[in-house]
Amino acid sequence: MYHDLPNPTTVYRGRFAPSPSGLLHLGSLLCALASFLDARANKGAWLVRIEDIDPPREQPGAASAILSTLAAHGMHWDEPPLFQSQCHARYRSRLEELSAAKLSYRCACTRARLKSLSTGYDGHCRRSPPAAEIPAATRLDVHRCCNQLTAEEAITFAELEDFVVHRKDGLFAYQLAVVADDIEQRITQVIRGRDLAPMTSAQQLLFKVFGAEPPRYVHTPLVVDNLGNKLSKQNRAKAVADTQPVENLLVCCRLLGLIDGEATETNLAISGLDDILAWAISQWQVNRLPKEDRMAPPDYQGGFPAPAENL
Ligand code: GLU
Ligand code: ZN
Repeated sequence: MYHDLPNPTTVYRGRFAPSPSGLLHLGSLLCALASFLDARANKGAWLVRIEDIDPPREQPGAASAILSTLAAHGMHWDEPPLFQSQCHARYRSRLEELSAAKLSYRCACTRARLKSLSTGYDGHCRRSPPAAEIPAATRLDVHRCCNQLTAEEAITFAELEDFVVHRKDGLFAYQLAVVADDIEQRITQVIRGRDLAPMTSAQQLLFKVFGAEPPRYVHTPLVVDNLGNKLSKQNRAKAVADTQPVENLLVCCRLLGLIDGEATETNLAISGLDDILAWAISQWQVNRLPKEDRMAPPDYQGGFPAPAENL
């Protein structure tokens, strides 16, 4: 069901790109909602991409559960979801492109050696390439990439280390896949959690190297628990309940700064799911997103481990 199809002349294309390593918690729902509201407020397309390129980290069933949760919250995508597990040929061809242009090199450094480097990768394997039969990761040669850019552009990337685009275990790196797909899907606006902000300049460099215009990037505040810990799959943040979408969306609207102070659903005259989404779209202003971390309300039951698990 792909309703609310955007006008074909609109250029705005946004996306929500969860990794199915767990179910959506309040923090990830907030990201999804922010990207959805921005797309709708701009009369753009909203896409969902399942970033399932790391099978060992996947939770069985999570991809379909994430899609059900989005649908249960009235966030309907405009094109069939893209699964990264189906796109290996694209990533392989992007890697070949880098290698043919001599913009990447093989790195066989051990985990222990990498751990001992305090200031990022030191370019060891660029200077001393490993033998062809040794298993190796592939790194982007940032310096050579920057040589293709104007001095002004290059300065943004001067601090980047030579980052991994293909892992030693054979998996495609997140940085490569995310850019290959954002290009393929013609994404113009990325809205995602602030934990991913440090990845942005590496991704912008890959866009340039592939001859594509990077999208605009906006990062949403992180949702923290009452101890200031970011809600994450690692700290067992609870999945949001598909059975209480209105309550979950209201919490997210508050955290996004759309509802302030004492306002309640009653005096805002919003009730059902579609009503709340329509209201949120009408209120949405991307440049008013809070900058600081947001604490989930202490009485919110949909997103926290039970107190006993919290110990
Ligand atoms: N798949 C990434 C994650 O869930 C997000 C990718 C992105 O939005 O750029 O952390
Ligand atoms: Zn190396």
